[in-house]
Amino acid sequence: MTVKTVFHHSLAPGKTLAIMGGVHGNEYCGPAATTKLLSDLDSGAVALQRGTLQVIPVANPRAYAQKTRFVERNLNRYLYPKEEKRHYEDHLDPVICSFLDSADVLLDLHSYASQGGPFVFLGGSQSRPEEVAFARALGVRDFVCGWSEAFGSGGKGGDKESQGTTEYARANGALAVTLECGHHHNADAADVGYRAILRALAHLEMLAPDCEAARSLDVGVAAESQRCVWMKSVFYKEAECTFVKPWQHFDRVARGEAIVSGAKGELVAPEDGHIILPKASAATGDEWFFFGTEGTFPSAEA
Ligand SMILES: [Zn+2]
Repeated sequence: MTVKTVFHHSLAPGKTLAIMGGVHGNEYCGPAATTKLLSDLDSGAVALQRGTLQVIPVANPRAYAQKTRFVERNLNRYLYPKEEKRHYEDHLDPVICSFLDSADVLLDLHSYASQGGPFVFLGGSQSRPEEVAFARALGVRDFVCGWSEAFGSGGKGGDKESQGTTEYARANGALAVTLECGHHHNADAADVGYRAILRALAHLEMLAPDCEAARSLDVGVAAESQRCVWMKSVFYKEAECTFVKPWQHFDRVARGEAIVSGAKGELVAPEDGHIILPKASAATGDEWFFFGTEGTFPSAEA
């Protein structure tokens, strides 16, 4: 099984934008969006005016064929070339890493297991202003911020454990964004990814303004309706406790509103905020949902 990588070199200098799908094999929006992109580049519906576009539609081909998140190791953790290759994914690392080494900007397309719509994971307060501006140009309303500051690192594997595609690319100087296109089986997930790719190209001034795809782009989401939720706390599933309703990712809750009911009473929102990535099927003791509050975007002053 091979990893297919496609390059489109415009003849005018510009940025190198890397697009990835299928880093997790059971997430279908990325492969579908990039496959449409490549066919539209071939037909001329999408045309580049400058720069280089490089695309990997399916980063983990065996996991994709098996419709599973990964085969032996999560490709989006411990991502770096390894001398000793013990797992299937270890053989993918050098291919993915050299692909990322040549990128100025990365857009990595994913989907997730909770019910809900598209959002972007931003870094934290240290995010580069250009990266935040790139993320906000993708046509998405919702952003989650400060994940690694609130819950990251300190893990058993140290820094390398949390190193996925975006962390690897950023360490290399690139701007890097993961777009979660919605629940794995949302009907519009691939379209969300495809439109985000076009917007990414337009933002980097790589998309020829007279091509069919450029003419189809609308204004997207106004900056003032974009929401940035900062992670505050994590809740673990307790026995005999249930959600008071089928929460969806980014649902708004008011201070004092019941989130969970159980034998010991209700658990209420500590302040006005949002439910993040609720997992109704979580087993007792597992991460159940996160709670966050709306704030300003990082680097907002820039
Ligand atoms: Zn994923």
